[in-house]
Amino acid sequence: MQTIANGIILKGLDLKPSKENILIDNGEIIEISPKVLEGEIIDASDSYVVPSFLNAHTHIGDSIIKDCGDGKTIDEIVKPPNGLKHRVLSNSSDDELIESMKSSMMDMLSSGTTHFIDYREGGIEGIKLLKKASKDIPINPIILGRDDIFYDNQADPSKVRKKIKSILKIADGIAPSGFGEISDETAKIIVDECRKASKISSIHVGEYESLQKDSLLKFKKTEIEKGVDFNFNLLIHLTYPMNNDLDKVFKNSKITSISLCPRSNGVLSLGIVPLNVIIEKRIKPLLGTDNIMFNSPNMMNEMEYALKAVRANYGTYINPKDILQMATTNIVSNSINSINSINSFNSINNKNISDNKLENQESVNEDNDNNIFNLNSIVKKSIIDIKNSPQLVIVKKHSNNPYLNIINRVETKDIKYVFNGENYIDFT
Ligand SMILES: [Zn+2]
Repeated sequence: MQTIANGIILKGLDLKPSKENILIDNGEIIEISPKVLEGEIIDASDSYVVPSFLNAHTHIGDSIIKDCGDGKTIDEIVKPPNGLKHRVLSNSSDDELIESMKSSMMDMLSSGTTHFIDYREGGIEGIKLLKKASKDIPINPIILGRDDIFYDNQADPSKVRKKIKSILKIADGIAPSGFGEISDETAKIIVDECRKASKISSIHVGEYESLQKDSLLKFKKTEIEKGVDFNFNLLIHLTYPMNNDLDKVFKNSKITSISLCPRSNGVLSLGIVPLNVIIEKRIKPLLGTDNIMFNSPNMMNEMEYALKAVRANYGTYINPKDILQMATTNIVSNSINSINSINSFNSINNKNISDNKLENQESVNEDNDNNIFNLNSIVKKSIIDIKNSPQLVIVKKHSNNPYLNIINRVETKDIKYVFNGENYIDFT
């Protein structure tokens, strides 16, 4: 039993600051009140207590080639199966890969990240390597696998399906690279099998302008539209939304979440995601640091770049609280929206049955309530509130603005404690 005492807590979905103590027992927050003081006392005076971070998009496998290939084109570096990255990965020993992944996970933990969603290359073996590497580290990897059979357009669909099923036995989902590398048939099978297994289907979309335009020419749909129409659960990048892409994303938000990776776009000279428009459209995005070869998996750096690059480029105010929510509570808000959608769907449907009318039907998905996906049922990220798992970070207080304090001031050395369920790590 522990009490985190005398800190300012960013509580609930809304990250509302309040000066209270938190009592934790057996991996659960039992009480939050100014009075409670039991068990081991953890001093949080001059600190903020913040939900730990979710890094919603990583490629941890390329930890082994940090800062390689700088200045080459994106295709030369990361395009599967023959980009620089894939050649190096296939020539590295398992022990080397495991050591480099461990070191990245320790970097994440010490900078306040307890959960990350990884695009794991290397098929079933690749997934097993990450599981082995993360075994003794109190961090939660959410692993999305893939297989080289996805790139073979001549492959027998039944073989593709079989391969996906076997990956899903050990992974949390499937993530091919992009629509440019796989056939529509393979995309359909991936989404279908993930849905049946209640796992995550994810894909990169709209990372740069020509991908969007080429897709529009070839398929009469942008990559983002394709991602939404195929019902992928998690779309990555959306650096270049076109036409009504973002309206489609919002409409499909019961199924589809999005993760943006501004620093990755920056280092690859691909532009700046229009985060201001995404927020205006009432979409609640997540943030990811993408390839560890390009950027450290440090979410505070990601938040700082997101805030400042978007303000600078679009000449518009972005609220720091919105940015902090992208790294902490949006994943939980999105799942609550899904639950609300289920309720509104049911109530509208019941109304339709009784009134025998079909009005309002446009606001809900036309299929049925099986067509709703709760990403957080797999990620399992929690907020700071009673009965929740303690997934939180105690950070040094430099200023009176709790949100800018984290985005603008806190460095890894200012992270004092990280709690993740029953584990807590003392970095003091
Ligand atoms: Zn990526």
